[in-house]
Amino acid sequence: MRGGIEIWMNELNTVEIANDGKSANIGGGALSKTVIDALWAAGKETFAHFANVATGACECTSILGPGLGGGHGFLQGRYGLVADQFLSMNIVLADGSLQKINETSDLWWAMKGAGHNFGIVTSITMKIYDVEDPNWAYVSYIFTGNKIEELYEATKNHLLKNGTQPRDVINFSYFINLPDVDPDNTVIIFYILQGGVKVVDPDLTNTFVKIGPVVTTGSAGTYLDLAAWTSNGNSDPPCQKIGLVNTRFPIDLETYDIQAQRQIYDLFSSATHETPALNGSLFLLEGYSLQAVQAVPQESTAVSYRGNTLLLAPLILYEPEGEELKKKAAKLGEDLRQILHRASGRKEMHTYVNYAFGTETKEQMYGHEGWRQKKLLDLKNKYDPHRKFSFYAPIA
Ligand SMILES: Cc1cc2nc3c(=O)[nH]c(=O)nc-3n(C[C@H](O)[C@H](O)[C@H](O)COP(=O)(O)OP(=O)(O)OC[C@H]3O[C@@H](n4cnc5c(N)ncnc54)[C@H](O)[C@@H]3O)c2cc1C
Repeated sequence: MRGGIEIWMNELNTVEIANDGKSANIGGGALSKTVIDALWAAGKETFAHFANVATGACECTSILGPGLGGGHGFLQGRYGLVADQFLSMNIVLADGSLQKINETSDLWWAMKGAGHNFGIVTSITMKIYDVEDPNWAYVSYIFTGNKIEELYEATKNHLLKNGTQPRDVINFSYFINLPDVDPDNTVIIFYILQGGVKVVDPDLTNTFVKIGPVVTTGSAGTYLDLAAWTSNGNSDPPCQKIGLVNTRFPIDLETYDIQAQRQIYDLFSSATHETPALNGSLFLLEGYSLQAVQAVPQESTAVSYRGNTLLLAPLILYEPEGEELKKKAAKLGEDLRQILHRASGRKEMHTYVNYAFGTETKEQMYGHEGWRQKKLLDLKNKYDPHRKFSFYAPIA
């Protein structure tokens, strides 16, 4: 970390549920797993029902780090983004004052999507929900690279369906190197997760079974199991602090372009085999459901990406080793997302702010509309004229 000051928030980790069971006050440093477990347990004990909050998908990230930039998670089809749950917050502003703000503040709009730029949130009050049905189930398949075209054609036609993927269905895939399965080429782990069921609906899975996976796994459980099923749990590799450089090159898209899927697969597979130092890398392809995300008007918050269906990102991982590898890794990540960008036919690239590598423009992270950029800059000039909060994905 260069040119920043790190503030360790881990003692601000309380979770207090309101008497009516509809909101919780959460400390500014609380991690997702702490919050999910506290709500789940309190729900059982206090309300005679389960309590649920729309958090990110990963157990070891915080609530506010993802949430201030929007925040994707498994429950977003039901309840919206993490930021859509905000009701009020205590925030230390750049002038040193501690203020409680809510929707009556002009800053509220910016805290949902560009919030890292405006202060330190010491606590947040968020909506929570009764669990409609505690059941979740998943299947995961491992496919070899010769199935790319069939796999993403089927994903487009049977799951995404022009942005109408069912509310409780999520599809995820990873390009990953698993030498035991294929020593020479990258393979694809493909997940279908479904809420409210004990077995994933065969209508969703049949098409993928016919494509011919080499490995099939699946299980039933509750919301608490989702992070571990998708390797986002506290004990999984992405949550370990083992000194790896961990860079994403995000691009948000509306759908898959099949030729581009082939091209990114071929490049990822060849590059990560030619350079063994990069062979722990992944390519993340996340397809969350969108109903409650898109029910919130796009202009009502600083989140600019509600129209996108897919969250794609090469995740280039390596042990730090010097400038040459660093450059090679950055070039690979950028080349991969540029293939997707060119195939999208879009002039402007959309990049999820919380995955940003650091070379993205503020338009790519916060939206290309002139009014959005002006509104953010006006608020920045008003609340942080000396740019104290401009380390993480800065507006200015
Ligand atoms: C393993 C892994 C899984 C991920 N999964 C998801 C996911 O499912 N959904 C998703 O949307 N994103 C996900 N992300 C991306 C995630 O949103 C960002 O990495 C985010 O920055 C993590 O926030 P943090 O607070 O945990 O990390 P930190 O590095 O501690 O914080 C990141 C930045 O957030 C800001 N910040 C954090 N807390 C506060 C606060 N209380 N007040 C003000 N600013 C604050 C600061 O600017 C800080 O620099 C994931 C990342 C990783 C590494």
